[in-house]
Amino acid sequence: MRKCFLFALAAAALLSCSSGKEMTAAPKTIDTNVNYAEFFTGSTMRFDFHHAGDSKQEFYYFDKVIREGAWAGSEVSLINPFDYGEQHFRIIDKATGKVIYKNNYCTLFNEWQTTPEAVVTSRSFPEGVIFPEPAKDFSIEFYARNKVTKEWEKKYTQDVQVNDYNIALQKPQYECIDIHIGGDVAHSLDIVLLPDGFTADEQEKFLASCRMWSDALFSYAPFTENSHRINVRAVWAPSKEKGVSKPGIGKWVDNLLGSRFYTLNSERYQMTEEFQRVRDVAANAPYESIFILTNTDKYGGGGIYNFYGLGSAGKTGKTGEVYVHEFGHSLMGLGDEYIEIGNTVSALYPAGKEPWEANLTRFVEFEGKWEDMIAEGTPIPTVAPEGSTEKDWVIGAYEGGGYLEKGVFRGWPECMMKALTDFCPVCQKAIIRYLDYICK
Ligand SMILES: [Zn+2]
Repeated sequence: MRKCFLFALAAAALLSCSSGKEMTAAPKTIDTNVNYAEFFTGSTMRFDFHHAGDSKQEFYYFDKVIREGAWAGSEVSLINPFDYGEQHFRIIDKATGKVIYKNNYCTLFNEWQTTPEAVVTSRSFPEGVIFPEPAKDFSIEFYARNKVTKEWEKKYTQDVQVNDYNIALQKPQYECIDIHIGGDVAHSLDIVLLPDGFTADEQEKFLASCRMWSDALFSYAPFTENSHRINVRAVWAPSKEKGVSKPGIGKWVDNLLGSRFYTLNSERYQMTEEFQRVRDVAANAPYESIFILTNTDKYGGGGIYNFYGLGSAGKTGKTGEVYVHEFGHSLMGLGDEYIEIGNTVSALYPAGKEPWEANLTRFVEFEGKWEDMIAEGTPIPTVAPEGSTEKDWVIGAYEGGGYLEKGVFRGWPECMMKALTDFCPVCQKAIIRYLDYICK
């Protein structure tokens, strides 16, 4: 639900170049040939830090390193080849200088940077990334996109010695329950569902929501036909109090993960700012992708690429469809394909810069998106004739997307990322490509 904070985009348009601890452009290509057995132990490592700054600049402050359970990701796909997200990090083997792991993501801090508050205030948000535990000493490097040029800039580097006695050990604390098991951990997408605002006597209510979440996901292509390589597990971690905080009406709830409405001062934007708590609970399952189910009937939620997704468990409106829509954001950063009437300027999708999302284009760097799916002779921009239906449509470039009426194009008239219908052919192909990478 990235729509909720669009009020702030006019302010964000004023952003200038960011500056941080380091400002080095990222090398373009990384050797993807990494021998897992040579460089990694088989466990998961977590690097916690605080991401701080304001609308113009960002800084990274080290918090702690933690050893977690067995690595749930691929042992082959170690260098994320998709140029998605506003952030990425790299793990570099100290002895050889080789990049042995890279992953991309977005954060709530990135969204906060586009708010009016960030123009006049500095803030920090707790964050943490996970990666396969290196067997030998390593460096971790953080990169962020320049707010104007969208080019990658190196912001922070830290060395880690693997025998440092300060590295903490995360012990299993909560029960992990299988909801849907498609394949083995290394060759599957492992999704973990976390409860927030469910008290100790509400386990069955939470598990019923998990089953609804899983059923909703597998009712949409291409997840239906890929269910054999997707696992869904739930961690049962009860809260002291029921529900979700609503600060705008003075209601505060002592829930486990800190979920709340009024995130970034937008009533419907339900998220948590306590991401390290989220990682603590998620660590009780093998996982790559996190979705939080909150114990409320109130509409609202969100999804941030490779960070987490969140939705209300209460059965109101199109709950299942909203889960799947938000999961499209959190799994692989699919962009919103809808428009907002009268919206002509967006700091998220500035003119002249290609959106990094797989399902949106400004035709600046269209190559590798869906140009190979457009039949020769298809008019660009493509227009769906009035009154036409799906059987009449062709893959093309339909103007409008990313909240903008003009200048941003999508591949199909309707989509889960536009109006909660089936995923369009462009999104389906992008999801399959992403699953192929994760499940290698
Ligand atoms: Zn789509």
